[in-house]
Amino acid sequence: MGRTMTDKTTSKFQDYSERTISNVKKVAANILRSIKTRSEAIDRPLRIMHVCGTHEATVARSGMRSLLPKDVKIIAGPGCPVCICPAEHISTAVVLAEKDCIVVTFGDMFKVPDASLTTLSQAKAKGNEIRVVYSVSDAVKIADDNPNRQIVWLGIGFETTAPMTSYVLEKGVPENFYVLSDFRLVPPALHVLASDRDFDLDAFILPGHVSTIIGTKPYEEFPKKYKIPCVVAGFDPLDFLVAMDKTLDQIDNGLSMVQNAYPRVVKKEGNPMALKSMENIFQIVDARWRGVGIIPKSGFELKKKLDDHNARLLLDEPIEVENDLPKGCKCGKVILGQVEPESCPHFLKRCTPETAIGPCMVSDEGTCRIRSKYQDFIELDI
Ligand code: SF4
Repeated sequence: MGRTMTDKTTSKFQDYSERTISNVKKVAANILRSIKTRSEAIDRPLRIMHVCGTHEATVARSGMRSLLPKDVKIIAGPGCPVCICPAEHISTAVVLAEKDCIVVTFGDMFKVPDASLTTLSQAKAKGNEIRVVYSVSDAVKIADDNPNRQIVWLGIGFETTAPMTSYVLEKGVPENFYVLSDFRLVPPALHVLASDRDFDLDAFILPGHVSTIIGTKPYEEFPKKYKIPCVVAGFDPLDFLVAMDKTLDQIDNGLSMVQNAYPRVVKKEGNPMALKSMENIFQIVDARWRGVGIIPKSGFELKKKLDDHNARLLLDEPIEVENDLPKGCKCGKVILGQVEPESCPHFLKRCTPETAIGPCMVSDEGTCRIRSKYQDFIELDI
């Protein structure tokens, strides 16, 4: 208490370059000791949420939860882009494929069921043309190679992937190239989480890749408005532990501010070129997050000047879905960090990585799929 709000906290683990492969275990033990000491000083249960599927994979794969003090809980929030992609997106893509468009997507989306449990994979098996690619540039090439067909690129993801699509649209695309844009923005979701006192969160660990694009500035309102500490983290387990240490340091000292524990990649101003490209191509709209509902100003739709490339306008009417999750699926609550996957009656029974019925069991960034993969714990003597 009584300290000023600067980034000079007492964390000893500021710089990733201090660590080498040979001393990883020692460094991890040192950071964990520091976290333990801070947790004992704070002396109350802490709920720290990350909003990134890759962070959840890092935490689960490393067995980190079993190494932290029992009072320190890491909660997985809405960080998997495939999981929060609305069911309408998949249903619309299937209808477009049935109308003889070539639908082009990242592999993650291929097996995600919509509300009626239909997947793009099933639509392909019925003879519709759906192709899986590694990048939007591949989709543009398919449009070049098939001038007599309409090519629909499925634009999903957060601020991390949106610039790739805005960049190709800025450069110019063939007239038969369309985008079904359902990109989502992370800060509006943080407002929903931080403003609901039922969530009772003590801090946010912020996503390194989204922050690479948007920088740290957009987060500055959260400590001011909600008095909640925010720390940007990278994706190595040590990166995440350093961010946890900084988070507990803030809580221990009664601080709330934005700190960057991933400075080798994330800059305060983000990536100005990517930001400008997105601003040129997208308008910000209210948007649905699967299982969560509509979050104000949380989505990117193509600007009106790009109507000729807007895949939604290929349909006479928008596809509407009444329930966006199958019966009994708790993905909505899992996405918001309100329940653990094990609380879902379908977890590893009807819903497995091979027979997924909910979106969180499909992607490698989905909380249910990650939980199904990594249930082992490691021991480290601290
Ligand atoms: Fe949804 Fe399957 Fe997870 Fe249940 S186990 S919440 S059905 S993804």
